[in-house]
Amino acid sequence: MTDRHAVLRAAAATLPGETPRLDAELLLAHVLGEDRLMMLVGRAPVPDEAVARFETLLARRRAHEPVAHIVGEREFWSLPLKVTRDVLVPRPDSETLIAEALRHFAGRPPARVLDLGTGSGALLLAALSEWPASTGLGIDRSAEALAVAAENAGRLGMGARAEWRLGDWAQGVEERFDLILCNPPYIADGTPLMPDVARFEPAGALFGGPDGLGPYRLLLPEVARLLPPGGVALFEFGEGQGDALVAMAKASGHAARTVPDLAGRPRVLVIAVA
Ligand code: GLN
Repeated sequence: MTDRHAVLRAAAATLPGETPRLDAELLLAHVLGEDRLMMLVGRAPVPDEAVARFETLLARRRAHEPVAHIVGEREFWSLPLKVTRDVLVPRPDSETLIAEALRHFAGRPPARVLDLGTGSGALLLAALSEWPASTGLGIDRSAEALAVAAENAGRLGMGARAEWRLGDWAQGVEERFDLILCNPPYIADGTPLMPDVARFEPAGALFGGPDGLGPYRLLLPEVARLLPPGGVALFEFGEGQGDALVAMAKASGHAARTVPDLAGRPRVLVIAVA
């Protein structure tokens, strides 16, 4: 038996990355089957058997496996989402799209929501969690990702409001959607990434061609036929891509602007139709 705070301190000192203490807490909570905050206020010592299981998980983390993969879950917009190696681990930066959607639709919920490249379903499910009468469609080219998204919808009680479709972006989509959400792969091919990302997350959700802008070249010209008046399309993008995207949106006939994430970096392209 060992004091849990001593266990956490020792573990955190051995972990890589930017959040070793938080990672140790999430892993120990997982081992003990407790919520992280309950685990932190708990006083019972950690049984040897649990310490041993914790050690196994720490070794995986030391080999750079993301905590979300080890525990099989990641919180996004306060929703617990199942995560596997078939989907991008939802990032806090992407919550900027949901915050912007809430601003746009204050007091008048979007009836229909489209999520292009839905992955785990994070963006669509976060939107549907805010507007209980809204329904949506999530499209992905990965059947494995869609299975994860559908499971997430079911677990969160949104199965009846979310439809999932295997497809190539918006190809074949005839309907218009009040809210379009999209976090495409936007990293330039060949960019060196942290081992946590490079070794464990799906390349198809990360790399967007030689300059990372490939998906936007395909998608921005589609926005006009997908958005009704009053609608908005929100695209996540990466560092230094904002000006090129605003210009690209303009070339497709849209006035566009960008919105920064919590760290103040331009992160979301906003295309609204009057
Ligand atoms: N934000 C992710 C990263 O930097 C990239 C996700 C994406 O390409 N959509 O790891």
